[in-house]
Amino acid sequence: MRSTFDLELVNGPVGDPAVFADLIGDGRAFLFDLGELGGLSPRKLLRVSDILLSYTHLDHFCGFERLLRVVLGRERTIRLVGPEGTIDRLAHRLASYSWNLAASFREGVTFEVIEVLEEGHRRRARLALRDRFHPSPIEAWRVEGDLLREEPRLILRAVPLDHEISCLAYSVEERQHVQIRRNHLEALGLGIGPWLRDLKEAVLEAVPDDTPIVARWRTAEGLRERVVPVGRLRRETLDVVAGQRIVYVTDCAWTRRNIERILSLARGADTLLIEAPFLDRDRTQARARRHLTARQAGTLARLAGVRRVIPFHFSPRYTERYELLAAEVEAAFEGHTVADLPGDA
Ligand SMILES: [Zn+2]
Repeated sequence: MRSTFDLELVNGPVGDPAVFADLIGDGRAFLFDLGELGGLSPRKLLRVSDILLSYTHLDHFCGFERLLRVVLGRERTIRLVGPEGTIDRLAHRLASYSWNLAASFREGVTFEVIEVLEEGHRRRARLALRDRFHPSPIEAWRVEGDLLREEPRLILRAVPLDHEISCLAYSVEERQHVQIRRNHLEALGLGIGPWLRDLKEAVLEAVPDDTPIVARWRTAEGLRERVVPVGRLRRETLDVVAGQRIVYVTDCAWTRRNIERILSLARGADTLLIEAPFLDRDRTQARARRHLTARQAGTLARLAGVRRVIPFHFSPRYTERYELLAAEVEAAFEGHTVADLPGDA
């Protein structure tokens, strides 16, 4: 199966949480958390369309300025999702700078900030450079379940977890994945070009079979063009397979409610990115700090039946012993060990 997302733990499993998830072939990327972002090039940061913030602890949020400086003068909207209070916090953060030159920018970034609250409540405000980042009036609405947004290609979900304060976990899922059979394309006399993206979109949007697709590609003799109905291309040159799902879970206590929510979000996911800060033998400290142990993280991955698990947010107390954390996650994921379920309700 070809992957949909190219995943990069920006600071490795030990540093601040930040995961760059590049949506392959789309020129667009998701960023889970905003820890230190020095490792991401401006070229990559310019692809970020959505920031999915777990919450606003310093190590999850301190990289915001690095992104801001790259996107500031760009005419685009970036969605930033976070728990209750995120609109206020981002507005205060932006208000700490002087924006007297904002009017001199011909173009400028807008942040659409969405808060995910309990029981499907959502709130939204826009913070635009042209308004010197004064937040727009807040809109509130409610959804069923954990839905965050639906797009033709993707479904995004978010659930609040308990870390003494609210901390969000996310799922990003590609509904269906369209694969091109290159040899069949060549057999039809068609060449590779950006038109294939239009074709994929048309197929995912289930347009009628007779919808014309304009195929344009470059050859040694120059530009070639042909118009072919989408139905024929779908039958002869494409495979439509199930899409991939990635789930991001961090900073949460080992409680029954968190376990239930994580399992319902992560069940059957392809990739689970999950915090594993403590070894199981230090579970008393893990419990006091409302974090998971590596064994608990691996147990969740196994119970959810995910295809692969990527642990991160290792505590610096295990310097030079980080492989123990990874091994403990793996042992529980393989079913060799299992974390005790919590006794609390
Ligand atoms: Zn953290």
